Amino acid sequence: MTADTAPQRTNLLGMTREEMEAFFLSIGEKKFRAAQVMKWIHHEGCDDFAAMTNLSKALRARLAEVAEIRGPGVVYEGSSSDGTRKWVLEVEDGSYVETVLIPADNGKRRTLCVSSQVGCSLDCSFCSTGKQGFQRNLTAAEIIGQVWVAQRSVGPRRDTANRPVTNVVMMGMGEPLLNYDNVVPAMKLMLDDDGYGLSKRRVTLSTSGVVPMLDRLGDELDVSLAISLHAANDELRNELVPLNRKYNIRTLLDACHRYLAKCDDTRMVTIEYTVIKDVNDQQEHARQLAELLRELPCKINLIPFNPFPHSGYEQPSRNQVRRFQQWLFELGYTAPIRTTRGDDIDAACGQLVGRVKDRTRRHERYIQSIQIDAD
Ligand code: SAH
Ligand code: SF4
Repeated sequence: MTADTAPQRTNLLGMTREEMEAFFLSIGEKKFRAAQVMKWIHHEGCDDFAAMTNLSKALRARLAEVAEIRGPGVVYEGSSSDGTRKWVLEVEDGSYVETVLIPADNGKRRTLCVSSQVGCSLDCSFCSTGKQGFQRNLTAAEIIGQVWVAQRSVGPRRDTANRPVTNVVMMGMGEPLLNYDNVVPAMKLMLDDDGYGLSKRRVTLSTSGVVPMLDRLGDELDVSLAISLHAANDELRNELVPLNRKYNIRTLLDACHRYLAKCDDTRMVTIEYTVIKDVNDQQEHARQLAELLRELPCKINLIPFNPFPHSGYEQPSRNQVRRFQQWLFELGYTAPIRTTRGDDIDAACGQLVGRVKDRTRRHERYIQSIQIDAD
């Protein structure tokens, strides 16, 4: 049989519990096989059916014929002196995505920054991903595959107290709510005990504000929510986040209230505010921001703009970001400044990937480094 005529094997990596159960039923097996195989894949990082010793030999052979566990290929893996680790991954069509693991709290927290799309269609004016345009949505297997690769490389999850990845933030490349059908199954696997078993508070979706999909998300999941606000008036936000022309600030904040109403009482939204020199870093901006967020249970993260070639924007000085922080403090907000990490390996989180393969100029890649580390 040639490669062209060989039957396609089903990739089990991105399947939710329900999908995996349906798969086993479809091959005449019992549903409980799903949990067994999920544990092998996501707890042990296994990609070889032959190693799944609690399955019969016959079933292992059958699975090897009809199924596969195929994650993204690791093109590069690096660690920086501050403990940040980065993987450049090659996905199906030869595009690259990057995944960054950022340690915090003396190693107690290890946050993985995950991408949802190759490129992004939303074209925020200060974002290098936006500047690259949109190439395609990642599949659920490619999204969860980033967690799978990171965990495999750090070590299998032997016990819940010592997880290689303790938190996930969907703050890599792409707008997760514009790839809803793949992001939601991947997030379900992050939360599932037979997947990565992370609590909903430790899994964060970051969005620039796709309001209808945010409402849909709230009906299905109650993961932590981060909103990329960056401006407290519509005129400025229209410029920075063009999606604001479709769903303006009021519409977006109303959607945040509806989202929170579907979660438990103590939940807060994280407001991401990229501080850009002379654009949104003045006292008046702090006042507007404080006023705007008065009614919303939220915390603000300040992210100094991370410059990239031809962005047309500048990074504010450290002092200016501190002043902005102080103004917010005086108005009743404690807003941590998220600092760049993993500089020596070009680690990136926040705007991501910078280094998607450009097929015409493979070697001319660039990357931006920033850490956004939600709880
Ligand atoms: N598309 C989603 C998630 C990915 S972007 C979103 O926009 O929320 C993750 C975060 O990085 C967003 O808050 C985004 O605004 C921010 N970001 C993008 N480019 C940046 C830059 N050059 N400097 C600092 N933060 C940036
Ligand atoms: Fe897309 Fe987010 Fe970048 Fe905007 S900030 S272009 S939504 S990845």
